[in-house]
Formats: sequence, C-alpha cells, structure tokens
Amino acid sequence: MNVPPCCDLIPDHIRQLAPYQPGKPMSELERELGLTSIIKLASNENPLGPSPKALGALQGLSQAFSLYPDGNGFELKTALSHRYRLDVDHWILGNGSNDLLDLVARTFLGPGTSAVYSRYAFAVYALATQAVGAVGLEVPDLDFGHDLEAMLAAIRPDTRVIFIANPNNPTGTFLDGKTLRRALARVPAEVVVVLDEAYTEYLSDVHRYDSFSLLREFDNLLVCRTFSKAYGLAGLRVGCAAGHPELIAFLNRLRQPFNVSVPGLLAATAALQDEEFLSMTRRVNDQGRAQLVAAFQRLDLLFIPSWGNFISVAVADGAAMYQGLLRQGVIVRPLAAYAMPNYLRVTVGTEAENERFIESLEKLL
Ligand SMILES: *Cc1c(COP(=O)(O)O)cnc(C)c1O
Repeated sequence: MNVPPCCDLIPDHIRQLAPYQPGKPMSELERELGLTSIIKLASNENPLGPSPKALGALQGLSQAFSLYPDGNGFELKTALSHRYRLDVDHWILGNGSNDLLDLVARTFLGPGTSAVYSRYAFAVYALATQAVGAVGLEVPDLDFGHDLEAMLAAIRPDTRVIFIANPNNPTGTFLDGKTLRRALARVPAEVVVVLDEAYTEYLSDVHRYDSFSLLREFDNLLVCRTFSKAYGLAGLRVGCAAGHPELIAFLNRLRQPFNVSVPGLLAATAALQDEEFLSMTRRVNDQGRAQLVAAFQRLDLLFIPSWGNFISVAVADGAAMYQGLLRQGVIVRPLAAYAMPNYLRVTVGTEAENERFIESLEKLL
C-alpha cells in the first residue's frame, strides 16, 4: 500500500518505534485455528478473574455510562490514601499504569534528554522514552535483573528519568528493599526514579518492603502500581502512582482529564478492599509457580527464578515452541522482542491450566 505523503514528515524517532507486542488474544487464535478450548498464559492476567468485590461494585451501573467519570478520581484516591496512609494529593490515576509511564516520559523527557533502564526490563520504558525523542540508555543486566551499580554509573548530565521494575517483567527478578533504598540515596535529586511495582502484591511477607515510606525520604521517587495483575482488572485499565505532590501536579497538567473510566474507578475502589481475593490470588500463584518450577526441573529446562505471577523458561527455539503451543491452544509469550529468542514467558495459571501447559510443552520437547 502506498504511504500518504503526509506520513513522510513524521519525525524519525517516531518512525523508528517498534510497536509494543501484546499477548495474542484468545479470540484471534480461535478465528485463526478454529480451536475452542484455548488457555491464555501470555499477559500475566489473574487466572481467578476479577476481584468479586469489584464485580459487585459494577452491578446496575448502566445509567452511569452516560456521564463523564470523576476526572479527579476522588473516591479511588481517598481509598488509596487510607490504605497506604498517604494524603490524596500524593496520588495520580492512570488508564493502566502504562498511561502513567507515558505521562512521566512526556513530562520529564524530550529531545536532548535521556532515560536509564535495564536490559530485559519492561518494554514500555524504551517505547515511552523513544516516543518523546529522548535517548534510552539501556544498561546491561545482572543475571537478568537490574544492575543498580551500573545503572547509577550510566546516569549522564542529561538524564532525567530512571525506570526500575520490581519485580521485573519479563524476567521476574527482584531487588530487596534495602538494596533499593541504598541506590535511591545515590540518585541525583534532579533525576526522577520510576519504581514500577506492577507485581508487588505477589511478594511474600518476608520480601515485601514499604515503598510508600520511601516517598518520605525521596522527593524524586514515583511509585507505580496497577489493578491489572493481582486485582484481576486488566480489561478495565486502572493504574495509580504516588509521589511528591508537586511532581504529581506536573504529571496532572498533561494527563487527559477523563483518563480512567467510570467502571474502572468503581471496580478499583472496591478491589482495593478485597483482602480475601488478594490472599487467594497470592496462594494460587505460589502453588502454581511451584508447580511450574517442579515441571521445568523434571524436564531439565532452564528457567529464571521469578517473584511475579509468571516465569521465563528457556527452550531450544522460542518461536517454534510458541507456535507449537498455539496449535495446541496454549498461548504464552515469546520473548524475541526482548532479545531473549530462546525464552518463553508463561503466566502462572490455575492448577489445571498449568497442567495443560506442561503437558503440551512436554509433547513438543
Ligand atoms: C503489566 C505491567 C504494567 C502495566 O500494566 P497496566 O495494565 O497498564 O497497568 C506495568 N509495568 C509492568 C512491569 C508490567 O508488567
């Protein structure tokens, strides 16, 4: 197809963007292969579905669909404030936490600036950085995780943002709270640290650290959370971030006024109170992760120990194995886009889903 001439004038940094590759939707595989019983372990979604409290909050909502949402998200922010003991003006809400990562880039980055992130870290950091014409400084990993020393050393005078995912996706690696805090203390005050904790709810009590208390020490810290993973609300698109009120106010200048939907706000507010669902989610994940680990060990497959609701496992040919699994109705995530062509990332599912994945995998090995 011919490219309209108006597109010739699109700036180079946008031309060179490689679009984010999402997990394959089940409906697409259904259309392509005519399969019926498909399982998706590709996008780190909650296999238990949404929080029941969130579902309850959505009952009888249809009238509200004709009204704009509260652009200020007062009720959700109030609920977050109570839950995490942090005043309302410390919070910002996003259309998923992706929206917030993008907002950070648009607020702090641009041509002539740079952002630091790790090799094998969440792909959106590089995308958001490049999208605004900034330079991405990708730092070599340390055993698939963040090498904080190297990341600190990579900071240049033009660096404005450091992205840290903890636990990291797609590798599942984890930095303990003390290590993190020591590193934060060495980041120049002019550089924003984005601490992306999309999987923090999956940590066990021994590993959990209080990232919100770090905000009292570090004015340049922004802690990002999401309702997409452990709360089971990926389809509703709600994320949140906490930081210094003045930093938050700058992000708010660029935020779309109604970036979180009516159902998103209601569901997230209710989900936040759903401790029971959260602990069940954690329990199912712990068991499922152990189930996958045991299978990988039995099959002599190399895997990266994970602190999240997914595991990345090495196979001879990731692309071929991915296709083979698809043909059996099992969707996982190939990691070629992360320069890990012999790895697949599998989301921890229910016991039955994990079993089906393991059987399919074993057949193909
Ligand atoms: C899934 C994920 C997110 C964001 O997901 P949203 O659905 O946009 O909230 C952010 N960071 C990491 C590391 C993730 O894996």
